[in-house]
Amino acid sequence: MRLFPIRGGIHPDYRKELTSEQAIVRLPLPARLYLPLQQHIGAPAEPVVSVGQKVKKGELLARGQGAVSAPTHAPTSGTIADITAVTAPHPSGLPQLTIILEPDGQDDWAALPDPIDDPFAAPANVIRDRVAAAGIVGQGGASFPSAVKLNLGTQQAIEILLINGAECEPYLTCDDRLMREHAAEIVDGARIMAHALSAPRIVIAIERNKPQALQAMQAAAAPHAAVEVVDVPVQYPMGSERHLTQAITGWETPAKKLTAELGVVVHNVGTARAVNQAVRFGRPLTARVVTISGGAVAQGKNIEVPLGTMVSELIAFCGGLKEEARRIVNGGPMMGQPLPSFEVPVVKGTSGILALTAREANERSTQPCIRCGGCVTICPCGLVPVEMAAFIRKDHLDGAARAGVMDCFSCGSCSYICPSHIPLVQFFNYAKGELAAQDREKRRLDQVKTLSESRAQRLERQAQAKREAAAAAAAARKAASATAENKASQ
Ligand code: SF4
Ligand code: SF4
Repeated sequence: MRLFPIRGGIHPDYRKELTSEQAIVRLPLPARLYLPLQQHIGAPAEPVVSVGQKVKKGELLARGQGAVSAPTHAPTSGTIADITAVTAPHPSGLPQLTIILEPDGQDDWAALPDPIDDPFAAPANVIRDRVAAAGIVGQGGASFPSAVKLNLGTQQAIEILLINGAECEPYLTCDDRLMREHAAEIVDGARIMAHALSAPRIVIAIERNKPQALQAMQAAAAPHAAVEVVDVPVQYPMGSERHLTQAITGWETPAKKLTAELGVVVHNVGTARAVNQAVRFGRPLTARVVTISGGAVAQGKNIEVPLGTMVSELIAFCGGLKEEARRIVNGGPMMGQPLPSFEVPVVKGTSGILALTAREANERSTQPCIRCGGCVTICPCGLVPVEMAAFIRKDHLDGAARAGVMDCFSCGSCSYICPSHIPLVQFFNYAKGELAAQDREKRRLDQVKTLSESRAQRLERQAQAKREAAAAAAAARKAASATAENKASQ
């Protein structure tokens, strides 16, 4: 297949060798599981269980609310111990409403929905409903409810289902291991999703630094003519939806548009496997594979983890720390989020947890910009980071917005290569947060203005109606009095 170049990008120190040869192992059941109600983009789920209730594995604990949401299911059988605020896996360290489940050790499954034996004969909406009911969200870290993306085929023609096996973030190897060990399930899940989308082509894209995954996926795809497995160059951020789409099709997704508008829907390899499990076996999403890595961890691993497991349990399972973790990261080091501590639960979008040493965290003092232009050359979105940062430093957010800061997807490439160690991406994250808050405030004020204008119009209409009624009553009285006078004079 012909590939197309993507703009910019970098070649960071990948450090995948720390865990790439670690086959997926299962974690023994922890003593408690912590299941936040917000594990996805969209509205939080709403609990349907109460404290003290006994539940079985796969049983619904919280249902999705609204068009964009996802339900949560019990990762094992046990008793609901509490529903309370627990620190979320987020840099803020803020608590979030969480269902706490105490496993009974039996791991008894609930009665599951019937398997769909021939998904390719089932209507597309049946597949989408099954994926929605299974609580599947994007496994690459974005956590967008997958059923919503599978609905895109009803809104526009989808030409390609692109399965993202690039895994371009350093350290992470969970997708690599999934592809090596569960290739047939991923290909089957991809074919089911393509059926739901009515997409005629499936392309599975894998970076060239995963030769065993490529081989396994090619073997699994071989019997299916519609499935192509493609090796793409090792170039961060190849795994971004827009850049992978560009590498495969040559089509550039305009800012503020989705790849789906070009006819390409992108799903992660882990999502494809979860769809296979939900459709073929009726199993909801209750576990995922997580890479535990970083120089501070005694032995990095790839672990199949029940959702809701505390990260501290995973670190202990890896033999603990061999030196101080200067930085704890949820996800990869480029786009991942810093964590306040190991006392946060694994959620549906947790692809990896990194415990980085001081050397890996690479904390160096910031120097003045030397205007080398390196950040401009490597920005995969064609932005001018040095200019955007200058605006933000002066608190000139409108200037940063005009320079395109809202088109930055925080890949971190500019910060990585900056010889002056300027934390450019942190500037952009701050500016995007402020601009989004300003936009929300403007919309709120617009809404208040519209409501107060419509109230004033309504009051004026009521006053006018009263005036008209009073005038009509006065006219009626006058007419009645004139009639009475006429009668009296006769
Ligand atoms: S890479 Fe750093 S030093 Fe070079 S122009 Fe950009 S901000 Fe300035
Ligand atoms: S973080 Fe933003 S500005 Fe920097 S390279 Fe990535 S997309 Fe460009």
